[in-house]
Amino acid sequence: MDLKPATPNERRQYYREEWDVNDIPEFIRKTLTQREFGFDHMGRGPNDRYRVFQNTDYLRKFMRYRTPFAAYSSVAFYHKPRRRDGWIKAELVFDVDAKDIPIRSCGCENVCEICLNQAKDIVHGLIDTIQGDLGLSDIHVVYSGRGYHIRVLDDKVMGMDSDVRSQIVKYLVGSDVPRSEYSSHGMKYNLEHFTVPFGYPQVFTDRVKQALLNLNLDTEIDEVSKDIKKAVIKHRELLSEDQWGLFRKEIGPVRYARLVKGIASLNLTLVDAKVSIDLKRILRLPSSLHSGVSMKSTLIKNLETFDPFQDAVPKFVYERKD
Ligand SMILES: [Zn+2]
Repeated sequence: MDLKPATPNERRQYYREEWDVNDIPEFIRKTLTQREFGFDHMGRGPNDRYRVFQNTDYLRKFMRYRTPFAAYSSVAFYHKPRRRDGWIKAELVFDVDAKDIPIRSCGCENVCEICLNQAKDIVHGLIDTIQGDLGLSDIHVVYSGRGYHIRVLDDKVMGMDSDVRSQIVKYLVGSDVPRSEYSSHGMKYNLEHFTVPFGYPQVFTDRVKQALLNLNLDTEIDEVSKDIKKAVIKHRELLSEDQWGLFRKEIGPVRYARLVKGIASLNLTLVDAKVSIDLKRILRLPSSLHSGVSMKSTLIKNLETFDPFQDAVPKFVYERKD
C-alpha cells in the first residue's frame, strides 16, 4: 500500500461520510472546553490556532464544513483556552515516530510496515516501564499516522513541569549507561547493567537489546566500527536467550563498553523529547485524517492486534482507481 497524500475531495469524503465525532476518544471529548484546538487547512502547518469548541456538535460541524488537512488539540487544559491562558495541567506524552527511530532494520526513506512494527515494539517496552516502574495506569495509545503517541492522564503526572518530564524521558528510553561499580564495606564490586534485574539497569538492558536486535551494518553509532557491528550481528542470537555475559565476552569488554555508550546516546531520540517537555503542545486529534499519508489517526484498543494497514486506512483509499 503506498502512502500518498489525500486530495481535497478525498478529505471531504472522509469527513462527510466516514468520520464520526464520537470516534474522538472520551478522554478528549469530556475535557473539550478546556482544550485549545488547532487546524492546518492548506497542508502548510497548523496556523489556525486558539480555537475552542463549547460542545462536540460545534466541533462536528466545523470538521464537516472545513474538512481540514490536519486537526490537532492541546495536551494542556486551560481556564482560558482561547488565549492559551490559565494553564491547569497537561497530559504526559511520548511521541514515537517510525521515521525517527535511531536504529532501524528497514532503512526505508519514509515509513514502511517494518519500521511501523518496530515502533510498536518500542511502544510496548515503554508502556511496560510506565506501568511497572512509574506506577501509572491512565494510559492511552494513539496511532498518529506515522507512529504512535502514548498519552498519560494520571493526575500525579499532569502537573509536572518540563524538567521532571525530561528526566522521565531519559529514564524510559535508557539514555545513560548505568554505573557498574558499586562498593560496600570497603569492597568494590563490578555489576554490569544486565546482571541487575530491576529498576533502571533493567530498563537500560531492555532498550539496548531492542537496539542490538535491529542493528545493521549501515547503522551509524559513535565510535563503533564496522568490525564491532559485524560481531554484534554474528553473536546477537545470544541475546534472544539473554546470554548477556557470553555476548559481552564475544564482543570484548572494551568494545562492549563503547557499544552500549553509543547506543545510550542514540536512545535519546527513541521518543521526541521536545513533545514530552512542551506543556502547551498540540497533538494530532485522534480520529482525524493524516492527509500527508492518507491514514486515520486512531485510538488503539488493543496494541497486540492493532495493524495500521488494516485498522487505520480510510475507505477512500480502497476506492482509488489508480
Ligand atoms: Zn521503514
